[in-house]
Amino acid sequence: MNIKELYQEIILEHGKNPRNLRKTDNFNKDAKGNNPLCGDNVHIYLKLDKKKKVEDISFEGSGCAISMASASIMTDLMKGKEEPEVKEIVNDFLGMIKENPELESKNLKDDEKTRLMCLSGVKQYPMRVKCATLSWHTLISAIDNAQEEINTEKLD
Ligand code: ZN
Repeated sequence: MNIKELYQEIILEHGKNPRNLRKTDNFNKDAKGNNPLCGDNVHIYLKLDKKKKVEDISFEGSGCAISMASASIMTDLMKGKEEPEVKEIVNDFLGMIKENPELESKNLKDDEKTRLMCLSGVKQYPMRVKCATLSWHTLISAIDNAQEEINTEKLD
């Protein structure tokens, strides 16, 4: 099995059995996102503790395997991270999906980087990039209390 096949395997597995596909009890931040081109919808729920650390994060939604796998991998990875770390990781991930060859964040452990790199295969496909980044843009909207539904057609 080559690395590309391994990445696909992990995405399919997360797509079939998404982690954290539920609604967090007593969440204190949330946001919705929509990718109309593919029909992906997510609703991200966050519970930050007093120190702004992610106590819980979850999502509800439906869509293609890539959008669900991305939300699954993201929510798994963000648990226990502090708000500034979350933002930094989101920026790093978006940079990698768009142009950077590698992830550079010091807030990511090697195994976490490997899990995120599974999504790097979408780079060549602009339509799929929207699927992979939907939940990430939506997470930032939740953290910033933007109160605005993310629409991938209205992002750069
Ligand atoms: Zn999609």
